[in-house]
Amino acid sequence: MMEQRRLRFLCCNADCGKEYTLQREVSRLQVLLVACPYCKTEATVDLAPYAHAIKPVMRGQESQAQVVQLELPAVLPTQAKPQDVE
Ligand SMILES: [Zn+2]
Repeated sequence: MMEQRRLRFLCCNADCGKEYTLQREVSRLQVLLVACPYCKTEATVDLAPYAHAIKPVMRGQESQAQVVQLELPAVLPTQAKPQDVE
């Protein structure tokens, strides 16, 4: 199951600096790729720092995979996307 959440991002472009919201699936650890709707700056958001792995309480069932819970701040800071070298 994918979980759609409305997330709030802070544009990494210092000349812009606006906040914007996007709907994203954040059901797993990943690096989100976002783009500011104001200045079109593409940026990445690494969710790893916000994840807390929760070990399954009960053993036995299909609990091999760790449950990952994300505790996201109200506004997620973004990082400039590395320039693609072609
Ligand atoms: Zn922007």
